[in-house]
Amino acid sequence: MFSDNFRRGEGGKGKGKTGSKAASKLADIGWKAFQAVNKSLPEGESITPNWAAEPLLKSYERTAPPLGFPRETDSLCPTCVKNVRNGVIDKTIPLEILMNSHPGEIKAQIVEENGQVLMKKTCPTHGDFVDVMATDAKFLERIELLFYGRDFKAA
Ligand SMILES: [Zn+2]
Repeated sequence: MFSDNFRRGEGGKGKGKTGSKAASKLADIGWKAFQAVNKSLPEGESITPNWAAEPLLKSYERTAPPLGFPRETDSLCPTCVKNVRNGVIDKTIPLEILMNSHPGEIKAQIVEENGQVLMKKTCPTHGDFVDVMATDAKFLERIELLFYGRDFKAA
């Protein structure tokens, strides 16, 4: 079930088609009424599966990172990462570098181009990298919309 309570860190830029707006509005009212009742009920025990360190968040407590595109995100230079990893393994780079800094961390731009979604980033040392995140932008948009939210509070 998708909750409209996600804090996605972006304004509501709904792209709903005019024809389905009425139905969508009605569903929205229904959902809000359900959530109002849901929240007013006494808190039941949250579920804690065997693999979980703490109870899972309730649907209305869940948050999501900023999604959609274009957007900027934190990423890594694949070449820097490989170099640091190999350096740590052969002891030419101290292990502490992984605790005290973020080697290879660079910003990446997630953009739509020709119906595809690309991640573009530039390492000052190793140059440009382009990765295809999705060959169908509409499909990724749909998948991101279905994201159920974080199981736990974000650190
Ligand atoms: Zn690099």
